[in-house]
Amino acid sequence: MASSEIATSNVAAKKTRVKSGSRKARPRPITSASVGAVLRILRRASRGWDAPVLILMAAERRDPFRTLIGCILSLRTKDETTAVAAPRLFELGDTPDALLRITPGEIERVIYPVGFYRTKARVIQDICRDLLGKFGGRVPDEIDELLTLKGVGRKTANLVVTEAFGKPGICVDTHVHRISNRWSLVRTKTPEHTEAALRKVLPRRYWLEYNSLLVAFGQTICQPVSPWCSRCPMEHLCPRIGVAHSR
Ligand code: SF4
Repeated sequence: MASSEIATSNVAAKKTRVKSGSRKARPRPITSASVGAVLRILRRASRGWDAPVLILMAAERRDPFRTLIGCILSLRTKDETTAVAAPRLFELGDTPDALLRITPGEIERVIYPVGFYRTKARVIQDICRDLLGKFGGRVPDEIDELLTLKGVGRKTANLVVTEAFGKPGICVDTHVHRISNRWSLVRTKTPEHTEAALRKVLPRRYWLEYNSLLVAFGQTICQPVSPWCSRCPMEHLCPRIGVAHSR
């Protein structure tokens, strides 16, 4: 082979090595077909997580009233704060009657420092009155009925029907929205759009566990600003869309 040919073939070989071997290919997006395998990995790993959402769920005991009020407390509040405040409130009462027998000031005192604690104390008592007036004191198990309660939006309504009643629904908060987009399972700008998109792509059998699993995952590993990709049990499967910094 002439020396110029050898030089050309060496350059070509070098280029091929760079293309095929040296750079790790980015994993594909998570899809309806592959999300089950991912959730299986997270389910197994979750036994070792010390996540505030799991403490809060234990305090709520899948009770519809506790779940509803716990979710109201958690709005615009750190999960760690809600996990401590909710049990303190439930010690004072965990029924609409009981929470109407105490003053708004007492509720404020025990739920402090959750965000907007003064407003939330009033909202909680308004909800209790509505539950007694419109629903005979019980928490409704339909999203549309829950949405008629003051202060209850789609996130809260979905959480109550799924966690407390075991009915189909997808509760989307910031963790679920962020992680579903990092996986490229959805490509959305808001939690509302994520809920609609997940209803199309997420197989129904995963709806019930999706929120609690992803919230616990988001609190411990796939955190908002700098996720712990080096500790992530599904790192080899994740396309990491939009992740600029990780640990
Ligand atoms: S921690 Fe990193 S690798 Fe794991 S799911 Fe989040 S972005 Fe993906």
